[in-house]
Amino acid sequence: MIVAIDGTAASGKGTLARRISARYGLAHLDTGLLYRAVGCLGVRNHVPLEDEDALAGLAEQMSLAEFDEAELRSDEAGANASIVAAHPKVRAALIAFQRRFVGHAGGAVLDGRDIGTVICPDADVKLWVDADVEERARRRHKELEMAGGHDSYETVLAKMRARDARDAGRTDAPMVKAADAHLIDTTEMTIEAAVERACEIIDRAVAQRNSSRS
Ligand code: C5P
Repeated sequence: MIVAIDGTAASGKGTLARRISARYGLAHLDTGLLYRAVGCLGVRNHVPLEDEDALAGLAEQMSLAEFDEAELRSDEAGANASIVAAHPKVRAALIAFQRRFVGHAGGAVLDGRDIGTVICPDADVKLWVDADVEERARRRHKELEMAGGHDSYETVLAKMRARDARDAGRTDAPMVKAADAHLIDTTEMTIEAAVERACEIIDRAVAQRNSSRS
């Protein structure tokens, strides 16, 4: 079974993907980490984030094992990821890795921005996870504060809006809900409620698939 989870930053899609992967025993790939890693490699190698060819070259050879999780998870890495993710050659360089992952025996859960539209258009279940931008900025601000960050809520909100606009506005694989994706709006939901909702959707899809086979 392939579960494709797309959505906006800080919508809860990453936590949802991890919980679903544990519940159904499926391998999980957080595809945002790939774009974050390319941005980090660019910074490490003093490659401008506008240099599409050089970044695509780095993307073809990289391994996620070279990175420290905290380095990849920083806010700056997220913003840089969104810049490098707009380059078609960078996206093309990362497709093979993602498609190999999808071939995992037993299936997989992938989360990102273009899983249901580009990477796995035939996924068994597609989820689109979103929440109001103010609520997402509030969550991110709280996380950053706990990690010792000093950005104000207004700054975090402005950065969140800028990232949304860049991800949704790029020409190659823009962030968009697939027509057949199920919406989970987490604005007023606990993560537990969102997981339950996602599992209902997945269980229904599995039951339908089994009944159409028998
Ligand atoms: O999900 P995460 O916040 O880690 O993603 C970082 C950035 O990577 C996103 O803002 C987006 O620009 C890019 N991305 C993408 N396609 C994906 C996953 C992430 O363009 N499948």
